[in-house]
Amino acid sequence: MKRIYLLTLTVILFSCDKEDEAPEYPDLSIYVDRFVEEAKDRGFDFDLSGLEAVYVDEIDLDGNEYCGYGYWDYKGSGKKRIEISKSANCDWKNRSDIERENLFFHEMGHAFLRRVHDETLLCDGKPMSLMASANGLGWRFYTEAEVKKRDYYITELIDRLSIKDECIDYGQNWATNPFFYQDIYQDNEWYFHSDNNNYSGNKGFIGGDPTKPIFTIQQIDGTITDNTGYWLRQFNNPNIPQCAKVKLKVSMSSESLEGTGAAIGVRAFHSPPKTTGAVNEEYLVLSTEETAPLTGTFSKEIRELEIDCFSRDTDYLIVFIVMLPGSKGVLNIDDVEIVVTESLG
Ligand SMILES: [Zn+2]
Repeated sequence: MKRIYLLTLTVILFSCDKEDEAPEYPDLSIYVDRFVEEAKDRGFDFDLSGLEAVYVDEIDLDGNEYCGYGYWDYKGSGKKRIEISKSANCDWKNRSDIERENLFFHEMGHAFLRRVHDETLLCDGKPMSLMASANGLGWRFYTEAEVKKRDYYITELIDRLSIKDECIDYGQNWATNPFFYQDIYQDNEWYFHSDNNNYSGNKGFIGGDPTKPIFTIQQIDGTITDNTGYWLRQFNNPNIPQCAKVKLKVSMSSESLEGTGAAIGVRAFHSPPKTTGAVNEEYLVLSTEETAPLTGTFSKEIRELEIDCFSRDTDYLIVFIVMLPGSKGVLNIDDVEIVVTESLG
């Protein structure tokens, strides 16, 4: 008697499961089509015919496992592609429809909208964007019951500027601490480039001594300096208030800098959504190259560049410190600061 009862119960549970669950591996076009509909509701007309969405057995990139991956330029082919992993660790087949949507729309952010991860938080501590890398949260930024939250995240995903009235956590009070960036010697994200290896860049501490910082660009003896040598630092998704004034200040010194001299620059890029996908564009270039290059002998001379009204639509800002072609000598970089003044209007 007991055996039969158990058996019956098992059969009932089994059949309930089957009825409630979405298919294990539905055609991914349902999420693509749903994204197009959501975009349409928000006034965007997207053509996703060029996007490929496929299941793969696993996604392992440089030893990291991913449950989904969005490529805006798959292996250099120019193709937009989303891969969803069937790996047991990801457990896609047992996920709810809304969990799958969370992950898929995040990958859509990468593949179609060319967005990169954004870890900015809202004042309530929640991720500002579905583009947060969100360890473990990737399936549940919002649940099926959280209709308003879902609406918010999809709107932000498609149109970053739409959420400018949200309370954003900047991690600092701009009125008392206006520095978006300082402490160059604690920062390992500066990258040096010289077109023809005519210049070398040195950054660190002489002999590892913290009292002897060094950050330079110098001509390599005996080379012809037809091209530039520069340090650059990239800032992804800068978490700066909408329309704030952003000032780059660089202090430089040299005992003797011959030739065209040294300059600073800023370039900013965004990816406005277009019908067949977002296109990455440079939208702002500022430089002191023409207006105020530094030459000769100077000590802690400051050069500044200012963005009048910063746009939160910015994917990344790049700051440059450049030795212009034809320059000889050693340029010392003493300090780099990015100062933010919040707009009151
Ligand atoms: Zn991602």
